[in-house]
Amino acid sequence: MEDSVKIAVVGGGVAGSSVAIYLGSMGLDITLFEKKSSLVDGPPMCHLHAGGNLYPDISMEQCVKLLKESIDLIHLYPQAIDYRPTLIAIPTYDTNKPSDLLKKLSILQNEYAKLVQVDERNKVLGDPKNYFKSYNKEDLIRIKESNEYVEWITPFVKEVDLEAIKYPIFLVQEYGLNVFRIAASATTLLEKYKNVSLNLNSEITKIVDDNGYKIEYIKDNNRYTEKFDYLINAAGFESGKIDDYIEKKRDRFVEFKAAYVTKWEENTHKWAEVIFFGKRGSSRGMRQFTPYSCNYFQIHTMTKDVTLFDNGLVKSSKTSSMPKLNDDFLNKIYYEWKWSEVEDRTNRSIEYVSNFIKNFKSAKVASKPLYGAQQIPGVEDSLRAAEVSFDGESYARCEIVKASSVLSMADDIMLKLIEKNIVDKGMYKHRDYDKYYVEKELIDDLSTKIAISRGYPKCMGLLYSETLYN
Ligand SMILES: Cc1cc2nc3c(=O)[nH]c(=O)nc-3n(C[C@H](O)[C@H](O)[C@H](O)COP(=O)(O)OP(=O)(O)OC[C@H]3O[C@@H](n4cnc5c(N)ncnc54)[C@H](O)[C@@H]3O)c2cc1C
Repeated sequence: MEDSVKIAVVGGGVAGSSVAIYLGSMGLDITLFEKKSSLVDGPPMCHLHAGGNLYPDISMEQCVKLLKESIDLIHLYPQAIDYRPTLIAIPTYDTNKPSDLLKKLSILQNEYAKLVQVDERNKVLGDPKNYFKSYNKEDLIRIKESNEYVEWITPFVKEVDLEAIKYPIFLVQEYGLNVFRIAASATTLLEKYKNVSLNLNSEITKIVDDNGYKIEYIKDNNRYTEKFDYLINAAGFESGKIDDYIEKKRDRFVEFKAAYVTKWEENTHKWAEVIFFGKRGSSRGMRQFTPYSCNYFQIHTMTKDVTLFDNGLVKSSKTSSMPKLNDDFLNKIYYEWKWSEVEDRTNRSIEYVSNFIKNFKSAKVASKPLYGAQQIPGVEDSLRAAEVSFDGESYARCEIVKASSVLSMADDIMLKLIEKNIVDKGMYKHRDYDKYYVEKELIDDLSTKIAISRGYPKCMGLLYSETLYN
């Protein structure tokens, strides 16, 4: 094995932090540069996407990949998973058919059962037999008219107009992902490794590719240069800037999106996440109602006046790998939103969801949105399961679209390091899950502090699944 190969990771989002944890846990010499003051502070993540059930238009192949990758992510960040299911309903006006969703869920259930058969440790979404459950209209009417409380279903039948949706509806073991808890877990894990040097508040301003990578960065107003043998670009939506520094061309999209944080004081139910399907970008785009502790609800609606934005999706050009978002989006990312726009968009999100969950109309704006820009590599903007690309012998780009892809991404990088004789081949797809253990109490404490420091309610750092009632 080659000795003392120095690996630089640019960007401490979920991609860069996870690859640093993975390679760091194998004893490699890693330096992680992050320009912000804490890790995993980029665009949000709230759904695990175990099976890609929120994307009716993506291929079955991508769905299966997302399922497998999500199971891996649960092992890497067990304290960040919110174990509450998701209810998926298709409105009567939508063109999707419950029968298609049923077919997809059955395939996913089968794939999940196979994964559990191969390795019992994969049984993290419950018994495969219960991966999903369907409810027809008669079931829901019976529940509504009885006094029986059916976990996750009773709130839905009490609040939603049962005439407005197609049947059956599906309760899926599709869990939440808490970004504050990922940040807390990544920070705790990385601080353990002496061979990982964590450079926060360190912005890379120039890279020269000259028989290794000469990296120039600014930290505390001082300029430094350091040389590395291997470069991992995990700069998220700004990955194109790194490509441009070293003149490596790559096609990609960048998309700006936002989810809104509301408080529904009057709620007395414990909710599943609820999804109402709808065509992306249309005025009836999908609505996602995501419960957090203390009656906070995060809302996405895939319409251009809430989650999506006119000109929010941009492409790289012939001369630059960095897609150019307009100044309004960059101001939101680097500085802040106008409060009037936060109120407008959040109130509209409340209105869209209360078209289905009637009493949600009393919800109020609770904080600034969770938002940001993310990259989508290649030339197909509907891609949802992506990992990494390589250019040359010692340059990798992390290009995840969903957080769940981080361990597959790390495996692909590992394979390249094995080919270069930097790592022993026995380490390929190595999974020592015990290494990722972090104490829950530690994460509760740190994640709530992170939520507060970023301007969000403290309760959003806690697990909703553990809240007793609301
Ligand atoms: C509204 C919204 C909702 C989303 N919901 C989900 C979801 O439910 N589930 C899911 O899996 N995904 C979701 N995503 C996607 C997810 O947020 C991204 O895929 C993920 O954050 C990408 O992680 P990353 O580490 O690649 O990039 P980032 O999180 O953007 O990290 C890149 C890091 O690099 C740093 N950096 C950049 N340039 C430099 C430099 N020059 N020097 C030093 N540091 C630098 C940045 O500060 C940043 O911290 C959502 C995205 C949005 C916008």
